[in-house]
Amino acid sequence: MPEIVRFAPSPTGNIHIGNARTALINWLVSIKTGGAFILRFDDTDQERSRDEYAQGIATDLDWLGIKPARVERQSARMASYDEVTQKLKDMGRLYPCYETADELDRKRKRQRARGLPPVYDRAALSLTDEQIKAYEAEGRKPHWRFQLDHKTVAWQDGVRGAQTIECDSVSDPVLIRADGSYLYTLPSVIDDIDMGVTMVIRGDDHVTNTAVQNQLFELLNGKAPAFSHHNLLTSATGEGLSKRLGSLSLRSMREDGYESLAVAIFAVLIGTSEPVQPLADMTALAELFALDKVSRSASKFDMADLGSLNARILHETAYDAVADRLEALGVNGGEAFWLAIRGNIERLPDAKVWWDIVETGLPDDAIGKSGDDAEFYAKALELLPNEPWDETTWKSWTTAIKAETGRKGKGLFMPLRVALTGRSHGPELAAFLPILGYQRTSDRLS
Ligand code: GLU
Repeated sequence: MPEIVRFAPSPTGNIHIGNARTALINWLVSIKTGGAFILRFDDTDQERSRDEYAQGIATDLDWLGIKPARVERQSARMASYDEVTQKLKDMGRLYPCYETADELDRKRKRQRARGLPPVYDRAALSLTDEQIKAYEAEGRKPHWRFQLDHKTVAWQDGVRGAQTIECDSVSDPVLIRADGSYLYTLPSVIDDIDMGVTMVIRGDDHVTNTAVQNQLFELLNGKAPAFSHHNLLTSATGEGLSKRLGSLSLRSMREDGYESLAVAIFAVLIGTSEPVQPLADMTALAELFALDKVSRSASKFDMADLGSLNARILHETAYDAVADRLEALGVNGGEAFWLAIRGNIERLPDAKVWWDIVETGLPDDAIGKSGDDAEFYAKALELLPNEPWDETTWKSWTTAIKAETGRKGKGLFMPLRVALTGRSHGPELAAFLPILGYQRTSDRLS
């Protein structure tokens, strides 16, 4: 069945790899089922929502290869929310509360001290008209809670299987703040109904919300969409990700030159029954992915593992796929250069390091040639063939050096590598030598 899904970030910061996981899983389900992906900005919090963050999120999704069929903003839909709010008030399901944050906090502490769950006691439901008038006279503004039906809400979760929540253990949720602004809880339900969302896929930190929203869906629409709650990612040290952890933001990964495909594969496959592995493209990822492969416990995200996946992907990447980006980096070595070095880089910008070694000479931290090898280098220079060079030049040259000097293996190759690249590790010299060319090679041997 074509699933209409949505990714609904609050534009209050840069999104991180955990948010990308939610977006990507939604995207994969939409392409797998021939459905549609809606990008919806949950921007009812006017104070914290910023347009530049919304733009940034759109850019991040585009980079990942997610193309929304539709983009919506909750801030543009206030009239619908106000209308439904009135309906809920008329039904007697939305009630005003006047407790301050401090008062609520003290209530919860008292409940905990008595060993009770910190569930809102519905005291506001028994306020008299006089008490309400007195609060209003004090200048207090009400916040509004949805009166839950104290029943069991059950659903078949796409990831977690059969779920039940007893609503008498859940506080009546605040839907409208004292300043009149909406939390996303109600707008989200209204949008999902109006936009025909058939499956809500989000992190498992929303499981309790689902009980609440399920009741709102039933009240307003007669039925709820399907729900799937995926596991969350944590940092390598086990902390939850937050928008403040700048280093795990998609933006920083893009700027650091990671492959969007590597980030996408990693964000999706980590914490599933599938091993993290290089794949050709998003379609291949969609084919491999299924909601029931997602594990139910949190998964640790380690940048080092992303780095090695990124390297594995680059090692198989054709020149055409990266030519523009190489040029933007100032790497003009063409296909031969790319094929020579792609196996030796972790991130694309590393190609510039090797290109500089070709073009501008040895890096500052180059390993120096050993004085003990002076005679060897002189011999190697003498035996250096004339151009034109190709992939066979290295072999014929080193065979000749071997015959003359009696050196072999590491003793033969390592001094040459060090002289030509300033490094003890690096690209296959058979491919690298023709790129370097006669002039540079002889200069470096002298
Ligand atoms: N704005 C909410 C969030 O980012 C949306 C949750 C949902 O997908 O319903 O957590």
